Amino acid sequence: MKPGHILGKEYSGELVDAGTRSRWRLADQVIAPFTLACGECPCCLAGESTTWVDQVIPGFTTQGAFAEYVSVPRDHNLTPSPVRLSPDLVAGLGCRASTAWHVLTGRTASKPGEWLAVHGPGLLVVLGQATSAASGL
Ligand SMILES: [Zn+2]
Repeated sequence: MKPGHILGKEYSGELVDAGTRSRWRLADQVIAPFTLACGECPCCLAGESTTWVDQVIPGFTTQGAFAEYVSVPRDHNLTPSPVRLSPDLVAGLGCRASTAWHVLTGRTASKPGEWLAVHGPGLLVVLGQATSAASGL
């Protein structure tokens, strides 16, 4: 990264502009994932957008979200934000919480009633523990 690069890969916010073909509207509250998918390559079509070789990761491959405004390409890279949660908490849903959920439901294929050990000191582990408890693991 070069000096002046803006970090930040977890974010949520309110739409202040949208293209004329977008399904989103001004003032919609949204979340974006930490990797922005093209939606057209074999990886994205298979539901494995995080394996796309040219994936866009705000804060790493492009300017990040520690900015006043962030441009998110393509409608499918946005998800409606739960209105009951604060924007600060919602921002973690696009990376930390979704990663914990993916590990529990995809990588481990854990099912309710099974035992699961989640070890480590980070917030991702805490979210993994909370997610597994909420899932009945
Ligand atoms: Zn793709």
